[in-house]
Parts: sequence; C-alpha cells; structure tokens
Amino acid sequence: MIPDWETERRTMVERQLRGRGIRDARVLRAMGEIPREEFVPPDLRVMAYGDAPVQIGWGQTISQPYMTALMAQELELTGAETVLEVGAGSGYAAAVLGALAARVVAVEIVEPLVRQARNNLDRAGRGANVTVVDGDGGFGFAEFAPYDAISVAAAAPEIPAALLAQLNDPGRLVIPVGSRDDQELRVVTKRGGRMEQRVPTLCQFVPLRGAEGWR
Ligand code: SAH
Repeated sequence: MIPDWETERRTMVERQLRGRGIRDARVLRAMGEIPREEFVPPDLRVMAYGDAPVQIGWGQTISQPYMTALMAQELELTGAETVLEVGAGSGYAAAVLGALAARVVAVEIVEPLVRQARNNLDRAGRGANVTVVDGDGGFGFAEFAPYDAISVAAAAPEIPAALLAQLNDPGRLVIPVGSRDDQELRVVTKRGGRMEQRVPTLCQFVPLRGAEGWR
C-alpha cells in the first residue's frame, strides 16, 4: 500500500509543529508543502513523517521535523534573505529555508551526500534557489558572504569564528553548541555591531566534522 503522503504531512504539521508551539505561518506552510518523503532513502520512506531523525547514509541523519521547524522559525526569515546552511545532508532543511528566503547556499562535507542532496532537491522541485556545495562549512562559504541568516545542522564545540564573520549585520545564526552527546541550540543575533545569544532548547545533533569539529 502506498502511504497517503498528503495526510501524513498534514498530521505532522498539526501534531509535531503547531501542537508544540511552532507559530511562524510561513514555516508551517512550507513544511506542509515540501514532500519530505523525497528526502528520505526509498527503503525508509514510511518513516519520512515520523517524530524522529531518519538515517540517510554515511552515518548521517535528516533532522526531526520539529527541530528543522524550530531552527527555521528562529531565523525569522521574511523572503528577502541569503541563507547559509552548514550540513546539507538530505537537502530537506535547505528546501525549507529556500521556501522562506531568496536564496540558500548549503555546504556539505560528505561528497556522496552533496550529490544526493542535489538530486533530492531537484526531484522535489525545490532546487531553483538552493545551491549545494562541497566543502567544510566550518569555514562558512566566503564566495557568497555575507549571509543574512546561517543555520548549522551539526553540533560544534564552539561557534566557528568564520560563521560569525560571514554573518551580515543585521543577521541571525542558529547552531547546536556543546559536547559530542548533548548540546544547547544557540540563537545569535547580530545588530548594530553587537551580538546577543539565546538558548531556546537543548538538543542532540550529529557532530560537526572538519577543522571546527572535535579533534
Ligand atoms: N540539514 C540536514 C541535516 C543533516 S545532518 C537535513 O535536513 O537533512 C548534518 C550534516 O552535516 C551531515 O550530512 C554531515 O555530513 C554534515 N556535516 C558535518 N560536518 C560538516 C562540515 N564541517 N561542513 C559541512 N557539512 C558538515
């Protein structure tokens, strides 16, 4: 039996997002439209709308829907922004950000996932304003900087300096910071040359690799 993706998607938005306090109407609409099943490997598709991360290969996961929604909401996007995502993975969060902003640059360090993310985005019809690039996102991606918003989908011991440097003023950055096992989600707001930080929740992400990850 082929699952009814529309119904699963609507239920996910109502129970997991709206039911837990996601209020940004644009985030709710985007996640109600983007076919998340296209970003999950074919054999795990029945788990596409589950309330948990799903394995996407190479030891990586597509984040839990609620976490993708919360991060997108914290960025307070209006549609005009250039956004950097570190850790494209499946490409799903990049698709969500692409629906909320003008343009997304998504960096991915695992080469086969770069291709997979591109394919997923194209199949879902979401590739037009999302560029997936191969590289260590701990260095940001200087070519298209500055970014009005930056979303980091892997946990770091500290906020990488390059990301703070490539963040526009005004700008917002969301990143899990802490130990390998447990982190706090930090929201950094840059405005008038000053930075403020908030922690909306605790979280558990896969570790950031590369120069800004753990030794
Ligand atoms: N946003 C993704 C979640 C992917 S999980 C989604 O919606 O599917 C985190 C991703 O970060 C993994 O794919 C991992 O390979 C990638 N990653 C880890 N360290 C990285 C780094 N230094 N630069 C770029 N990507 C990195």
